[in-house]
Amino acid sequence: LLDALIDQAALAIERVNLAEDVDRARLAAETERLRSALLTSISHDLRTPLASILGSATSLTSYGPMLDEESRRDLASTIQEEAERLNRFIANLLDMTRLESGAIRPRTSPVDLAELVGSALERAGKILAGHTVEVDLAADLPMLEVDSVLFEQVLFNLLDNAAKYAPAGSRIDVRAHQENGRVRIEVLDEGDGIPGADVERIFDKFYRVHAQDRQRAGTGLGLAICRGFVEAMGGTIVAGNRTDRRGAVFTLSIPAAAELARIDEEAAE
Ligand code: ADP
Repeated sequence: LLDALIDQAALAIERVNLAEDVDRARLAAETERLRSALLTSISHDLRTPLASILGSATSLTSYGPMLDEESRRDLASTIQEEAERLNRFIANLLDMTRLESGAIRPRTSPVDLAELVGSALERAGKILAGHTVEVDLAADLPMLEVDSVLFEQVLFNLLDNAAKYAPAGSRIDVRAHQENGRVRIEVLDEGDGIPGADVERIFDKFYRVHAQDRQRAGTGLGLAICRGFVEAMGGTIVAGNRTDRRGAVFTLSIPAAAELARIDEEAAE
């Protein structure tokens, strides 16, 4: 009987091992597929702006003297815009790598949201031109306990998207109020919003809702970086659609600085 039991156990173990092997093989295949999809996507994102830069630069060097002032300026600004796009993409890739390797360790301190919104708006100035931005922060808003550099980047990415995915001239709202000892911040736009099935997936690396988004400068990394930064600071970020009108809403819940920390800081000043 013992022999039979041992045989049975050995058989069961073998079966488990076999199943694990299959799982492992499936995982390896899936990882390989993702890796190659990622490489294709990255190559595309690098090649598209580079092709524009090369094309415009070649036209300038070959035909520059024959072109009128305006055409030359157009070519030069294409080169500049596409180089900026490359720069952004590489900065995003670096942020992502630093996030994933755990190299990003937020240094949090009490920060005034009004100041952060101000500097993010200033940085996004060119991008937001043509949009109306309304900022409505509750009067009793506590300080946030965040890393100001990382948090400004989060706000910048959300404003950048609000401008990019909503029509020119539309309105963008930034609102904040206190809720259960945390600060709830919302960025609302008047674009097409986000299909219900995608509200979570848009936070995945390289995920973009529409194929035609490829035409709009973007990397599919912005929101993944936002979520990584926000979670590293003890906050949450979710996407949804507005209920009062068309448009997307991004909602952040961020720890408020302890009252004590604020008093400490004031005493230190
Ligand atoms: P990117 O903007 O570079 O594509 P993101 O990670 O910032 O990358 O966004 C991922 C995708 O989520 C976008 O491609 C777009 O499809 C969708 N998205 C982001 N923000 C908005 C928004 N405000 N309104 C509608 N769709 C959005």
